[in-house]
Amino acid sequence: MLTGTLVTTNGVYHNDDGLAKTISPIFYTLESKQIKSKFCFSWDTHRSLRYKNVVETSPQIFCKAQDDDGTFETMKKSIEYNSTQAIFGILEYLDHAGHTFGFSVSNDKYIEALSDSERGTRKLIDIVNKRKTKDLEYCLIVITTDHGGVNRGHLGRTIMESMIFLHRIRRSSI
Ligand SMILES: [Zn+2]
Repeated sequence: MLTGTLVTTNGVYHNDDGLAKTISPIFYTLESKQIKSKFCFSWDTHRSLRYKNVVETSPQIFCKAQDDDGTFETMKKSIEYNSTQAIFGILEYLDHAGHTFGFSVSNDKYIEALSDSERGTRKLIDIVNKRKTKDLEYCLIVITTDHGGVNRGHLGRTIMESMIFLHRIRRSSI
């Protein structure tokens, strides 16, 4: 994730793979340039496996929460208290709902999970826009999806499983 490299380079072919040692995720690159960064998550595999190499050198980047509500709360506090310059968060609502109830827009539980993710994201954007110092700041918000799925799984190469969406909001008054 966020390495800007192809799977053949980053080494992550499957959930059981860790990121290749030669690849630096963006939050690690920023942190090593003295830009305080945070990676907020609830699925521990990100820390215990995916970014294991980064955890060894920069454990302070990683903020584990109990669930997505906790992930949102950590991100919210980081924005409000100015403790971090770059915040990355990953949500699990949608993936869990897909595996449990099915990856489908005709599935109410899946749509509910999508709505929860969107509502939380909207709140974070509102918090960014309400910062007292907002007119003195440069801000970039990037929202990207993970994979979708077919039935209750993914890992295939169908468009539903492999297409991702990317959106960015940039604000600068300086
Ligand atoms: Zn999954």
